[in-house]
Amino acid sequence: MEPDKPTSFSVVNDCFALPPGVDWTAVDEALATIRSYLVPIVGVEKQGLAQALGRVLAEPVMALRSNPPCANSAVDGYGFWGPVGDGPKSMLLVGGRAAAGKPFQDTVPPGQAIRILTGASLPHGVDTVVLDEQVQKLGSIITFDGPIKRYTNTRKAGEDVVAGRIVIKSGRCLTAADVGLATAVGVSEVTLRKRLRVAIVSTGNELVETGLPVNFDQIYDVNRPMLKALVSRFGFEVIDIGKVSDNRSDLRQALDLASKTADLILVSGGASAGDEDHVSALLHESGALKEWRIAVKPGRPLAFGLWNTKPIFGLPGNPVAAFVCSLIFVWPAMNLRAGRGWTVPSAFNVPSGFSKSKKAGRREYLRARMRDGKVDVFESEGSGRVSGLSWAEGLVELCENAQTIHVGDTVRFIPYSSFGL
Ligand code: AMP
Ligand code: MG
Repeated sequence: MEPDKPTSFSVVNDCFALPPGVDWTAVDEALATIRSYLVPIVGVEKQGLAQALGRVLAEPVMALRSNPPCANSAVDGYGFWGPVGDGPKSMLLVGGRAAAGKPFQDTVPPGQAIRILTGASLPHGVDTVVLDEQVQKLGSIITFDGPIKRYTNTRKAGEDVVAGRIVIKSGRCLTAADVGLATAVGVSEVTLRKRLRVAIVSTGNELVETGLPVNFDQIYDVNRPMLKALVSRFGFEVIDIGKVSDNRSDLRQALDLASKTADLILVSGGASAGDEDHVSALLHESGALKEWRIAVKPGRPLAFGLWNTKPIFGLPGNPVAAFVCSLIFVWPAMNLRAGRGWTVPSAFNVPSGFSKSKKAGRREYLRARMRDGKVDVFESEGSGRVSGLSWAEGLVELCENAQTIHVGDTVRFIPYSSFGL
């Protein structure tokens, strides 16, 4: 086995080589630090199930009734008291029938049968059902072949869920299936965490609001609409603080506003140590900063701290890096803060459809998607290639000590859906 430690820092003319003398932070170390700074928001509210999709459950859901609430038929057929032994059987049909929502009120005598439809509660005297297709009916006599075991084609009361059981744990981000389950067990209202409020700020003199005219040397503010869309998809409330120029006092004002209205702040751009990188400088002043150069591609500059007690992320300005860092670093942090706990995205070991060599010592996330049982990566790793984010359906994660990947090697694929996207 290769030792899991960074090697070969000496490649020149590679803007992503890891130069010696710089204090690189490993992805896992940054994640552990972020996690250690965060606490969940407080505050809960009761909501109807219709409002609960994608929200975080603050109290467990307990079944108010069993599912199914009473024994019923799983098929259309004829019900009787089972079992019956080998050979042909004949039974007299009682008058009437049992249907879903229209139960048969009387008792079916032993040796007789009743017409019964799917979902009908089993009448007294019935515990077994023979399927329509296995029965010949002549007037009020049915015949069919045995043997038929007791309880065949029936569902027992509570066979899915017994009343009183916890069916959904607190901290769960409610899915459509959870809404179905809660409804089935008689729950119509749930206690939710308050929705996490996430403030989003863009920085950069070159940025122009989408929809407005631009000069050739300006670019549209991509990060804010993109991050707003991400945060909404995560199920959180977006607070759009807007775009600020590379000016420290404007930025300070924007962050003050963000910290008053939100539970977590995302700022993109200005996270490096350059002249116009005011985010890292301001966070530095505020005294609660981690200004990392993370051994990750894409990404590298990432700032994390507290602004007026609110967690703040200084994301790279580059949209590809901002997107990937949002998934890898911000998504688990938001989930912890929202009450879901620290989350790790599901990854899948799949065969590589590409080959590549990389520097040891740095983790890489490649824009990727699955086709024909293999994972393909985008044609360019250029961090300015926003089109690759859109082309991709997930990320391939190459660990720090990986160096050469051949077609057919097993690699880790994290679909966007693992982040709830
Ligand atoms: P910075 O981190 O501010 O040095 O930005 C790095 C690169 O990302 C520069 O090319 C910026 O123009 C670009 N960039 C920064 N913020 C945004 C944004 N909101 N939308 C699109 N590109 C951006
Ligand atoms: Mg900038």
